[in-house]
Amino acid sequence: TPRIIGRDEHGIDKRLVSLEAIRTVRNLQRAGYEAYVVGGAVRDLLLGVTPKDFDVVTDATPEQVKRCQKRAIIIGKRFRLVHVMFGREKIECSTFRALEGAGVRKDKFGRVISDNVFGEMWEDAARRDFTINALYYNPTTDELIDYHNGMQDILDGVVRMIGDPEERYREDPVRMLRAVRIASKLQFKIDEATFEPIARLAPLLGNVPEARLFDEAVKLLTCGRAIACMEQLRQLGLYRNVIPLLEVALKESKGERFLMLAMKRTDERIAIGKKVSPSFLFATLLWPLTYRHFEERIARGESQIQAMIEAGRYVLDKQCERLAIQKRFVEDILTIWVLQIKLLRRGTKAAMGYMNIPKFRAGYDFMLLRSQLEFIDPEIVNWWTKFQEVDEETRLEMIRQQA
Ligand code: ATP
Ligand code: MG
Repeated sequence: TPRIIGRDEHGIDKRLVSLEAIRTVRNLQRAGYEAYVVGGAVRDLLLGVTPKDFDVVTDATPEQVKRCQKRAIIIGKRFRLVHVMFGREKIECSTFRALEGAGVRKDKFGRVISDNVFGEMWEDAARRDFTINALYYNPTTDELIDYHNGMQDILDGVVRMIGDPEERYREDPVRMLRAVRIASKLQFKIDEATFEPIARLAPLLGNVPEARLFDEAVKLLTCGRAIACMEQLRQLGLYRNVIPLLEVALKESKGERFLMLAMKRTDERIAIGKKVSPSFLFATLLWPLTYRHFEERIARGESQIQAMIEAGRYVLDKQCERLAIQKRFVEDILTIWVLQIKLLRRGTKAAMGYMNIPKFRAGYDFMLLRSQLEFIDPEIVNWWTKFQEVDEETRLEMIRQQA
């Protein structure tokens, strides 16, 4: 039986709970279903942090969820769930999953391949990865439901696997990466028994689809403590060869330095509450590779812009397929790269127009970042820095001086 924790003890500040999450829960409860906020959001709420997204869990099936929300779409195959939409906000709403049984299929390594069998709330709790991720919050009653002593682990700062760690890693090796990421992000320690199997089972990650590893790699890189994460992954032998995106970056001569720089910048931006864009991150990671192709094309006599576009498209085409970089990022990444050429030309009227390109700022930031590792004429960087700060008349004057 779970422990029910009241407001006085958990101290969750309800104002940090998004209205959309509260509404999703209410709509379900009004229709007679159980519904809770769950997962990372509850963990963040208990730590006094504003969650970046909210997951809701319920005993209603996806079809039933859809029926009691205004706008909702059913997605997913391996796990069917519902996206409840509120304008640009979306709440992910899933149905309690059953424990191992008829509906769960595993491969020869013990990895779970498919399961869509709905179950009881206690089963759903037992299937989650860490105790601190298995807390259920009911915003209507302000009660927290705790099946696995997650509240105590939050207070102690411990990441602890639910159940037998080795078995749980075998079911889903990505949990090894999650343990490291969540511990680094929250500055928690990983419980001894949860930590011990990781180095030993690291090779199991080789059996995970690349698209999933890629998603996790992006989460690692954007968790706000990427450098600390990578340090620990390196010690555990999970660093090279397991994260395909990083492997691609690391193969290039300047790859490792670019990776470190990208992580440092991302950590710093998150520390001061700024957003990080995945496009910028990919643009950085794939830059050494793209630049190598660019130089080859230049050597063959192509024009600079043309060579950059072609090199960029080539690299992105190849990597998108392998890494499942979402299509919507591709154009942004290309724009950032092409700006690296365009920004070299200051003395034209076109310079005025560059400022209106949506990715101008990212392109400029990217040039700043590059200038830490490559030779870029400091005059050019400084020129653009100043160009952005001055009024239109001064800008025209700056262009005239260049021409
Ligand atoms: P983040 O801050 O990165 O969003 P999170 O814990 O919310 O962290 P999600 O990937 O959003 O991570 O997952 C939501 C919840 O789903 C988790 O808190 C956990 O309860 C459960 N979960 C996610 N991935 C797994 C997994 N691989 N195995 C078991 N449970 C998982
Ligand atoms: Mg989450």
